[in-house]
Amino acid sequence: MMSDVLELSIADLADQVKSGTLSARAVTEAALARIERTQDLNAFLHVSKDASLAAADAVDAKRQRGEALGKLAGVPIAIKDALCTMDAPTTCASKILTRVGEGNAGGTDPTRGFRPPYDATVVARLRAADAILIGKVNMDEFAMGSSGENSAFGPSRNPWDKSRTAGGSSSGSAVSVAAGLALGALGSDTGGSIRQPAALCGVVGVKPSYGRVSRYGLIAFASSLDQVGPFARDVKSAARLLEVISGADPMDSTSADLPVGEYEAACSKDVKGLRIGIPEEYFGEGLDPAIAESVRSAIAELEKAGCTVKPVSLPHTKYGIATYYVVATAEASSNLARFDGVRFGLRIENVKSDLTSLYGKTRNAGFGAEVKRRILLGTYVLSAGYYDAYYKKAQRVRTLIKRDFDAAFESVDAIAVPTSPIPAFRFGEKVESPLAMYLADVFTLPASLAGIAGLSVPCRPTPATASQPALPVGLQLLGPSFAEERLFSLAAEVERRMGGVQRPPA
Ligand code: GLN
Repeated sequence: MMSDVLELSIADLADQVKSGTLSARAVTEAALARIERTQDLNAFLHVSKDASLAAADAVDAKRQRGEALGKLAGVPIAIKDALCTMDAPTTCASKILTRVGEGNAGGTDPTRGFRPPYDATVVARLRAADAILIGKVNMDEFAMGSSGENSAFGPSRNPWDKSRTAGGSSSGSAVSVAAGLALGALGSDTGGSIRQPAALCGVVGVKPSYGRVSRYGLIAFASSLDQVGPFARDVKSAARLLEVISGADPMDSTSADLPVGEYEAACSKDVKGLRIGIPEEYFGEGLDPAIAESVRSAIAELEKAGCTVKPVSLPHTKYGIATYYVVATAEASSNLARFDGVRFGLRIENVKSDLTSLYGKTRNAGFGAEVKRRILLGTYVLSAGYYDAYYKKAQRVRTLIKRDFDAAFESVDAIAVPTSPIPAFRFGEKVESPLAMYLADVFTLPASLAGIAGLSVPCRPTPATASQPALPVGLQLLGPSFAEERLFSLAAEVERRMGGVQRPPA
C-alpha cells in the first residue's frame, strides 16, 4: 500500500498533493522507507532524510495556508551527485571531494563530502517547484564511465538483474527511478550518461540540446558537451521535469535565451506525417540482434502511427568515439585542475613544504584510475607539438559530425536508432579494457558532439534466455537543437504502443 504512491506519474502525484488527498510527508516517508529497503542497489550516496521531511512539511503547510503549489508538489526527486546542493554533500563519487579538511589519506564515506555554498540552478528550480530532494545518487567518478563501476563508493546495481551494471555515468539516477525510489531524477549527459543508463534500466532519459538547461552548479567534466537532464518512468513525467529545469540562466552564459517548449503538452500531440530517418551506420556490426529487432519493431509502430520512415546517412559516425575521447579528455584535464588540495575537498597533509608535492600527493590519493587516465590523455592531446595533430583535428571532425546531422535534418524531422548496442552487462565484464567500455557509447556520442536533442525511451525488452533474463532496450530519438517537443511526441507514441511503463521484476 505504502509503495503505491511511488507508482504514480509525476502529474498524478503532484495533483493529489495539491488537492490534499495525499500529504507530501506521507509520500516522502514512503520513498525513504523504500530507499532503506533497497540499500543493496547502492543507488544513493546520501539520503536527505531530515531535509526532505522538513521540505515535505513545508509543502503541506503551504497548502494548508491556501497558497498555490508548484508543478512538482511533493514529488520525490533524486539528484546526481555531480550537482551542487547546499543541504547535502556533493562528491561526484570521488574521494577527492570527500572528508573535507580532515587532512588524511582520504575517506570512503560519501556522506561526509564537500558542502557547496550554493545550489545548482536546476536544483534551485526543483525546489521552487515544491519538489522533495530525497538524496544524492551514485555515479561514475566525475561522470567518467558507462557502468557506474568507476564510483569510489561501489557501483549501483541494475534492478532488472542485480548481477549487472546499471550503465553510467548517471547510474544511481537511473536505478532510483527504475526501482521506484524516486519519481524522477536529474543526471548529466556528456557523451551518453543519461540516455545509456536509462536504456539499460528501462526508464526514460532526456539529453536536452546543448544550452537548453543551465550548467551552473554542475561539476564540470567537459564543458562544451555537458548537459543536465531528467529521468522518469514515463515520458510525460520526464517532459514535466524538463519544463521545470529548462531556460536561460544569467549564471551560465552558454544557456540559450529561447522560450521553453510545452514539453508535457507535446506528449499528447499526433505524430502523423513526421519523417523519421534511419541511419544504416547505427545498425551494423556490434549491434546485439535482439536490440536491433526491438528497435526496428518500435520504428514499425511509429510507421503505423502515420510517420514516414526513410534512410539517412551519417557517414562520420565511425569517428565519434575517437573524436569524443580527444575533446572530452582535453576539457576534463583543464576542468579537473581545480582539485588540487588547496581549495576543495581532500588535502594530503604532512607533505614536505613544496606545493608541487601537495598537489601531486593529493591528486594521486584522491582521483581514481579512470579519472587519472583521462587527465593524462587530455593533457597529452593539448600539449605543445601534439595540439594540432589531436585536439585541433578532433575539433574539425566534430564539425563534420555536426554537418552530417544538419544535412540529415533537411529531409527528416527526427532520427531513430538504438541507444546502446548491448543490454545491461555484468559487473567486471568491461572494466579491464577501457576501450571495450568506451565502445558502449558508440551510439550516444555523436549527438553529444553535435549538441543536438536526444532521448531514450524503453521499447520491447530482450527475450529471456537460459543465460540472461529479459533486459530493457532503449530506442534513441534524436532531433535538431531545441526540437525537444517533437521528440516527446514521438516518445510518448512509442510508449503508448509498447503498453506503457515497464517494471523490473519485484
Ligand atoms: N561514458 C562516457 C564517458 O565515459 C560518457 C560519460 C558522460 O556522458 N558523462 O565519458
